[in-house]
Amino acid sequence: SSPLLEVKDLKKYFPISKGLLGRKKSYVKAVDGVSFTINKGETLGLVGESGCGKSTTGRMLMKLIDSTEGQILFEGKEITNLNDDQIRDTRKDFQMVFQDPFASLNPRLTVREIIEEPLIIHNYDKSKRAQRIAELLDVVGLNAYHADRYPHEFSGGQRQRIGIARALAVNPKLIIADEPVSALDVSIQSQILNLLKDLQEEFGLTYLFIAHDLSVVEHISDRVGVMYLGRIVELADKKSLYSEPLHPYTKALLSAVPVPNPRLKRERIILKGDIPSPSNPPTGCTFHTRCPFAIDKCKSEAPKLTEMKEGHYVSCHLY
Ligand code: SF4
Ligand code: MG
Repeated sequence: SSPLLEVKDLKKYFPISKGLLGRKKSYVKAVDGVSFTINKGETLGLVGESGCGKSTTGRMLMKLIDSTEGQILFEGKEITNLNDDQIRDTRKDFQMVFQDPFASLNPRLTVREIIEEPLIIHNYDKSKRAQRIAELLDVVGLNAYHADRYPHEFSGGQRQRIGIARALAVNPKLIIADEPVSALDVSIQSQILNLLKDLQEEFGLTYLFIAHDLSVVEHISDRVGVMYLGRIVELADKKSLYSEPLHPYTKALLSAVPVPNPRLKRERIILKGDIPSPSNPPTGCTFHTRCPFAIDKCKSEAPKLTEMKEGHYVSCHLY
């Protein structure tokens, strides 16, 4: 069967002006050729430090911003360049859960009004809306008593439940969750992750789950992609990625994840320096300025994402 979502060589370049004397156009290559697929019912985790292009990728898929280049196929149909009218039906199938539910929920609307908004936009009958809202509150672990309250009356975890209810309202097929638990207390994070997992099973949802931390996506993902400076540097099924990471960047990220059993502790790999600016990325392998294993070739030649074992892709000259 064809994947639910297929992304091919997607790019987003933001033009930057270099002052009055700058005649040459210059760009921030926020996303620089990203390709992946997501199968129906699957969760793909997309991980990387801030500025790696993971949120920009999510926003392009949501059509919140246009892509510069590349293709997006949904259920085998190209949707990359469709305009607002052409995309209306498909838009319903894509919903987003945001990092900060407080910022993404309108403070002047009640919970009922917040959840009702997408139902109105997508022409749900007035008579059916009340029942749908009650159902949605129930599936996210809230109840009718919460419907007439305002976002500020809720805890962070409850607010994220409201955000999830809104995202589910019109029966989407794909949910793009952009750091949905990053703003929450650690004790609440697992509740929300478990809720997302249960909802996925119940409604056959497909997730793109964006996070800056490999430990957050381990529980929920089937496959994981690791991004660095606008590119995917490693992509594999969860087991393979966590037990046999190949890319030095993935190894460094994993070495920072605490493990419950100290005997399984990985040797800590400390990266030197900061992430370079995406407006002026390093030559060759863009990770070479921070990579503890860099060889000469890394400065001049960009490695290609290559399949090393079935379904395990890496972009590194060491392999
Ligand atoms: Fe490090 Fe070179 Fe591999 Fe890049 S290609 S990750 S610099 S070893
Ligand atoms: Mg982000």
